[in-house]
Amino acid sequence: MIIMGEDAQRVKDKDAQEYNIQAARAVANAVRSTLGPKGMDKMLVDSMGDVTITNDGVTILQEMDIDNPTAEMIVEVAETQEDEAGDGTTTAVAIAGELLKNAEDLLEQDIHPTAIIKGFHLASQEARSQINEVAEGVEPGDSEVLQKVAETSMTGKSSELNKDLLAELVVDTVEAVTVEADDGSYVVDLANVNIETQTGRSTAESELLNGAVIDKDPVQDDMPTEFDEADVLLLDEPIEIEETDVDTQVNVESPDQLQQFLDQEEKQLRQKVDKIVDSGADVVFCQKGIDDLAQHYLSKEGILAVRRTKKSDIAFLRDVVGANVVSDLDSLSSEDLGRASVRRDADDELFYVEGLDEETHGVTLLLRGSTDHVVDEIERGVQDALDVVSTTVSDGRVVAGGGAIEVEVARRLRSYAGSVGGREQLAVEAFADALELVPRVLAENAGLDSIDTLVRLREAHQEDEDTRAGLNVFSGDVEDTFEAGVVEPAQAKEQAIASATEAANLVLKIDDIIAADELSTSGDGDDEGGAPGGGMGGMGGMGGMGGAM
Ligand code: ADP
Ligand code: MG
Repeated sequence: MIIMGEDAQRVKDKDAQEYNIQAARAVANAVRSTLGPKGMDKMLVDSMGDVTITNDGVTILQEMDIDNPTAEMIVEVAETQEDEAGDGTTTAVAIAGELLKNAEDLLEQDIHPTAIIKGFHLASQEARSQINEVAEGVEPGDSEVLQKVAETSMTGKSSELNKDLLAELVVDTVEAVTVEADDGSYVVDLANVNIETQTGRSTAESELLNGAVIDKDPVQDDMPTEFDEADVLLLDEPIEIEETDVDTQVNVESPDQLQQFLDQEEKQLRQKVDKIVDSGADVVFCQKGIDDLAQHYLSKEGILAVRRTKKSDIAFLRDVVGANVVSDLDSLSSEDLGRASVRRDADDELFYVEGLDEETHGVTLLLRGSTDHVVDEIERGVQDALDVVSTTVSDGRVVAGGGAIEVEVARRLRSYAGSVGGREQLAVEAFADALELVPRVLAENAGLDSIDTLVRLREAHQEDEDTRAGLNVFSGDVEDTFEAGVVEPAQAKEQAIASATEAANLVLKIDDIIAADELSTSGDGDDEGGAPGGGMGGMGGMGGMGGAM
């Protein structure tokens, strides 16, 4: 016997499934109107009144403050997709929702959840292996294709306005940090990319720089700021008097003694600067402070010094100039220094530091825009595109977008379904239908007839070779979307299918919900027996969103 509290509630079997499916579908419905370049944006207002306008699936779901456990599983689909692929979050969530919708129909036909789960699992595996069949190879040097991948990931976002230029920068950036591994595969190390944003100039003036960009001033105006070949010291110790213990008192009894004390301090600073001079350093990037007097000595020695350099900049500079980060001047030797050319952009108050040695690496993407808001948006778009292009380069496979891959895989799944047989066959077919949600929603969001579009797409996909026919949402035509420039990483498509299936199957496995509190907040009380209608109360806010679409 289970003893439950007064507010506790238990929902079983079909009711439990229906309840969960509704909750999950509500989440999927909330994001689907944002899918594709013609998708709409959502305005999210948080409890503090702050407004975010976005059409990014993960952002929307994270801001929505969902407190239904089933719905949260769907949100996790988006988060996994973001982590693994950097794109395709809306697609993954929308497919999960559609899988559950189609599962609901099968449940109504009295097909047992176990058969559906098995069929979905088989279909997911088959779909992924068919994506691999259809996918086309891409190499790091295929800049044209990679640029299409970058552009596709940016469409519909605000980085879109300067899409050509930004996509080119993204591809150049990824290519600059790609190395070939021993086994012939390619490894993209995005840790070697630093993104620096700068307001004031137009986005079109954004650029990719070899090395680091440091947004700091010299500690003294009269220091030299240009070096063709500088020995660079990276220091994470202050160039200041070493603090005496807080409790120590210095008793000064005569002016002489005071002078002596001050001389002592001066000497200490002089010694620190001498150590820097002796090492041969021309430039010092210090992570901590630099005493005024030390600044003066350094300037007299013709050394460029920068203080309070960001820790992340010091870490990046280490790779760029090939230096050790020194934390104790006493142990400093010339071995610790790196080599770089240093330039000053006086207008922007930036230092450009470019490494001179072979084995050094690191590039900086300097993104510009008129205002903070603009550069932030651009940075987000570029960051996503960097993830997508680097995934593509290391994975080496791309597919045509605009629903092309989904329609092709759905067709192949339908012919595979026959070999599965039994009730699972129905689940495989339902899975194929769910994939076609992508072109249907792309059409819908572009104001096109979704049924008509799907019919035209299926017609164009009759043979195994017709893999690239997709919907161009701008013209409304069904065409070779790969040629038209809508190209996506195969890995993101596989990941979207894998995580959508996993979430749908998790939801389907649940046949009993035991809740400590009432599931319903709809106010009708218990008279509906906690059935799905009332159970959706927890999603009240989202119901509102759904209605707004
Ligand atoms: P996601 O969060 O899933 O990445 P998006 O809003 O970025 O969602 O939309 C991605 C979908 O839009 C993909 O299916 C992609 O193929 C499609 N897409 C992108 N550009 C075009 C285009 N010009 N025409 C048709 N479909 C496009
Ligand atoms: Mg996208």
